[in-house]
Amino acid sequence: MFKKILIANRGEIALRVIRACREMGISTVAVHSTADADAMHVRMADEAVCIGPPPATQSYLLVPAIISACEITGADAVHPGYGFLSENANFVQVVSDHGITFIGPTAEHIRVMGDKITAKDTMKALGVPCVPGSDGAVPDLETARKISGEIGYPVIVKATAGGGGRGMKLARNADQIDEAFQTARSEAKAAFGNDEVYIEKYLDTPRHIEVQVFGDGKGGAVHLGERDCSLQRRHQKVFEEAPGPAITPEMRASIGKTCADAVANIDYAGAGTIEFLYENGEFFFIEMNTRLQVEHPVTEAIYGVDLVREQIRIAAGQPLSFAQEDLHLNGHAIEVRINAERLPNFSPCPGTITAYHAPGGLGVRMDSALYNGYSIPPYYDSLIGKLIVHGRDRPEALARLNRALGELIVDGVDSTVPLFSALLAEPDIQSGNYTIHWLEKWLERALA
Ligand code: ADP
Repeated sequence: MFKKILIANRGEIALRVIRACREMGISTVAVHSTADADAMHVRMADEAVCIGPPPATQSYLLVPAIISACEITGADAVHPGYGFLSENANFVQVVSDHGITFIGPTAEHIRVMGDKITAKDTMKALGVPCVPGSDGAVPDLETARKISGEIGYPVIVKATAGGGGRGMKLARNADQIDEAFQTARSEAKAAFGNDEVYIEKYLDTPRHIEVQVFGDGKGGAVHLGERDCSLQRRHQKVFEEAPGPAITPEMRASIGKTCADAVANIDYAGAGTIEFLYENGEFFFIEMNTRLQVEHPVTEAIYGVDLVREQIRIAAGQPLSFAQEDLHLNGHAIEVRINAERLPNFSPCPGTITAYHAPGGLGVRMDSALYNGYSIPPYYDSLIGKLIVHGRDRPEALARLNRALGELIVDGVDSTVPLFSALLAEPDIQSGNYTIHWLEKWLERALA
């Protein structure tokens, strides 16, 4: 097992990894920018190394600085968290070239899944159902028009290198395809330095359902059911739950097996999430994330496992600590993402926390790096905490969420907390009846 793990991240996810390491008896190294010198992950780790100035490109994303921090501290493994370098195949290569273990899949698997066209082709070949669309990249406008006509409108033009909901454009009919194609291309070029795009059938009322998988890197894999992450704003998840309100045990077992078999087939190692759009009883693959997800705690709650611990075990060459038949889901869990953002526009709202109180009690988990007097720096993601609740069933989880939101105090900055209290009063949220468009429509009405 590793002696010392460096966490190439910040905020709540760095703390999350430190917690798992501590329980496993592994020392931890935090890295931080000058803006994060007083951050909680720096205080909680056994050692800390300053790796650069505030901009992420000069610190958290700077590969040589992270490698130097590993060498100075003698870390034998790196956990990337999510975001930053977690899906950067080049980083994985450099880490292993220095004799350090990357806690995650191989550079090759990251590369394959990071390119959405290759990912789709790979999944299709492995028997995973995909959204109907172009066979590979669409080179020019003429081909875009032809293919869209064949698929049938509406269609969505998507960036091969896409992520974070960027580089995606909808065309409702033939009059809109020229603009959609050209804007998607230029957005993709600007955001990812790669203007390759492909076209998919646009599904009108799907849910976003994602399956958690774990591979042992040696042809074995399990699934830990699904999460419903349909409640999104600008393609960003804000509220996630498990199990999915629309998914039956039979459907879970079937799509779960398809996913576990697919990753077992390619000797995938570690945690992965296979994302689908789900409509009228059918699953359509959209992408695979080769890392831990922000919303992993809902899965941990209902399956009673520590996913970070499993990631570390696999990276150290140990077997998974459970087999598929050991995994039984229990109850219902919900996570809400608390962002330092000002409603109604969700504009980032960094500042100093004048009072912070985390909710507690039965079935409540607060993953956050906040503390009284903490100054949220303006340079990074606006996520400041995740509130996760677990109940015996969905109604109990909802009641518990409502209760926990009432206990939470975050003073000094605006946050998305009031959004969740308002959402809980909605009959559709109470009944679990929503699609990926529900939240945007609700916000439009609420803001009108
Ligand atoms: P990203 O990597 O940028 O997050 P995804 O491919 O995962 O992109 O898609 C993000 C979100 O965009 C999905 O959760 C869904 O809300 C929407 N979306 C993507 N593809 C389609 C599609 N074919 N039809 C309808 N909505 C889609």
